[in-house]
Amino acid sequence: MFENLSDRLSGVLDRLTKQGALSEDDVKAALREVRVALLEADVSLPVARAFIKKVQDKATGQAVTKSVTPGQQVVKIVHDALVETLSGEGDPGALKIDNPPAPILMVGLQGSGKTTTTAKLAKRLHEREGKRVLMASLDVNRPAAMEQLEILGKQIGVDTLPIVKGEDPVAIAKRAKTQASLGGYDVYMLDTAGRLHIDQELIAQAAAVRDVANPRETLLVVDGLTGQDAVNVAEEFDDKIGVTGVVLTRMDGDGRGGAALSMRSVTGKPIRFVGLGEKMDAIETFEPERIAGRILG
Ligand code: GDP
Repeated sequence: MFENLSDRLSGVLDRLTKQGALSEDDVKAALREVRVALLEADVSLPVARAFIKKVQDKATGQAVTKSVTPGQQVVKIVHDALVETLSGEGDPGALKIDNPPAPILMVGLQGSGKTTTTAKLAKRLHEREGKRVLMASLDVNRPAAMEQLEILGKQIGVDTLPIVKGEDPVAIAKRAKTQASLGGYDVYMLDTAGRLHIDQELIAQAAAVRDVANPRETLLVVDGLTGQDAVNVAEEFDDKIGVTGVVLTRMDGDGRGGAALSMRSVTGKPIRFVGLGEKMDAIETFEPERIAGRILG
């Protein structure tokens, strides 16, 4: 569907470059193509612009190595800059779960994949790190969401907090904490309510839960296919609740992954995991290299 960026750049640059270094004109011409590629990959315009400017300064005047074409060279410069921008500090997959029972707060809009991601991460912690995990749904307005988590828990062999009708989210969070302590769990995951849009009630509820649970990690789950909307949602949640990382779901879809670059550039928050399907194993630690490759096509 998309023309390969390397080929596109070769077309532009191999015509222009006559001397042994990338001139300003060469770089400008190449970066016009890169800009198109970024926008096609759903990177927002301001982010694409800022990124291009950064790369332009880096690339101008670089000697062209004999072993690669100027096109390949610019692609490498862009690729490395993408990886640098997308990378956070440390291992994105290493969740802070020392000092048991460690609370992990899961937040996000309805339909983003929050409940699925909660269960996927619980399974991962249980199977890969041998942790005892307790999951609790706090979505008191949607009994189906509570049942969904219970069903997933049974499916993956992870305990869920028994559902008690009529309890409010703060009471559930407190009960989860007590049960996690008494039951010797390493981690308890709080799957907060989602709404279709961010509203005051949603934020107030998540903030109240945060205040009683004092989470070690607050992970925001966003649909990676929603582009700029995902970034707006992340800014708002981070502003009001404070998040320690982002999980981008539906990265198995057709999207080119540009939301990851916008997300990282605008919010400064690390992307920790990506969701790659509906199955319980379809989650991976975020790898900047892989997303950079996908953005460039
Ligand atoms: P919630 O309302 O945020 O809790 O969303 P759910 O966890 O119920 O997920 C909504 C739908 O998205 C379900 O059908 C999930 O199976 C699906 N889903 C979640 N994560 C992914 C993903 O990474 N890729 C794909 N293709 N589907 C996903």
